[in-house]
Amino acid sequence: MLPAMARPGDGSYHPPPPNGPEPTKHVVSDSLQITDIKVDGYERVVRGIDPKSGLRAFIAVHDTTLGPALGGLRMWPYESDDAALFDVKRLSRGMSFKSAVAHTGLGGGKAVIVGDPKTIKSEGLYLAMGRFIDALGGRYITAEDVNTSIEDLEIIRRATKHVTGLARKDGGSGNPSPYTAYGVYLGIRAALGWKFGNDDPKGRTVAIQGIGAVGSALARRLIDAGATVYAADRNTERLQQLAAEIGVKPADEAQITTMKCDVFAPCALGAILHDESIPKFNCPIIAGAANNLLLEPRHGKMLQDRDILYAPDYVINAGGIINVSVEFHPGGYDEKVSLGKIERIPQALKELWTISKEERIPTSDAADRLAERIIADARGQKKAQAATPSPRGRSGC
Ligand code: NAD
Repeated sequence: MLPAMARPGDGSYHPPPPNGPEPTKHVVSDSLQITDIKVDGYERVVRGIDPKSGLRAFIAVHDTTLGPALGGLRMWPYESDDAALFDVKRLSRGMSFKSAVAHTGLGGGKAVIVGDPKTIKSEGLYLAMGRFIDALGGRYITAEDVNTSIEDLEIIRRATKHVTGLARKDGGSGNPSPYTAYGVYLGIRAALGWKFGNDDPKGRTVAIQGIGAVGSALARRLIDAGATVYAADRNTERLQQLAAEIGVKPADEAQITTMKCDVFAPCALGAILHDESIPKFNCPIIAGAANNLLLEPRHGKMLQDRDILYAPDYVINAGGIINVSVEFHPGGYDEKVSLGKIERIPQALKELWTISKEERIPTSDAADRLAERIIADARGQKKAQAATPSPRGRSGC
């Protein structure tokens, strides 16, 4: 039987001080070696190597001002340590921004395991990863990500309590996809309202790229609300099935990004907004679930120049992380609390679209600015609180 989990927010959870002294290298088990890597702008970046199990991994804790750093554990056959380090840093910073704008009460972090998921997965490897995560004392909390599954997390949980996103039967918040889809649906409504002065999807046309876990749930909601939904997916069998079941209109892959519609909703791949694709869009709004949609930051400006309203990916697709974050609430996971927080995604979008309009910057830059502002404000408040003497101190008792 596993010990009861201490959680942020329940009074029993005490993350270590963000900037406390850290040893540069220490041995956690017989073979696990942890080495600190100094990176400016990051609270802590560490490499973990366990020759016994073959584990080679990195954890980046970008910022814990708002709470412990939550972010998924990715497994990928990186070509080098530098490539893995670049990815873990980029992704952990993204998690700080995503959690800040979504007001999850969490900070940003990420972990990556270097290796081919087809060959390196083993119980020993995940137990070593669990010990590696545990050595950070709760400053980093892990979750599922590319090439890791809930089953993998179950093994990791045998070595550390700092694991989240487990199945409902295990006290977790379960599959995040329907919550992500709900947030994207609300975000699309907000975009329609912002662009046309009426947020009703009835009579609107939406083109969805990728009708998987999130895309299909989004399509259902839009069709129920009276929209016409076109969709493309590499999995043509599933597409045909959804056409019969819910009335999605199948489109082909090339057509979906160029067709005339009110909203293009990318729910498959990242990096699809670039020099070649942006001039061809025939829609006033781009709003979908896929991560890292802009190939480069400058593509946000290209969208702005074409007067396409872009809902920044990490803001509109935050429903999943919001749902997971509710696991940390004092009473444990509560779907009502989660839905209430997801329903604030339109407000966050409107805030950043206002910044974009007033400061004449791309909406993607406005999202980063909003996130940085939220983190900086919290940091300022913490400093002010720390500097204020307690009443006991003031009375001299
Ligand atoms: P999924 O794997 O269930 O669905 C993706 C779908 O896209 C699949 O059906 C796949 O066949 C299709 N696809 C792949 N390449 C395509 C292409 N070129 N053209 C058309 N279709 C293509 O994934 P998901 O969980 O639905 O997530 C979708 C996207 O949203 C991903 O980018 C994911 O990172 C992001 N996201 C998901 C969540 C979540 O809660 N699941 C949260 C945040 C972000």
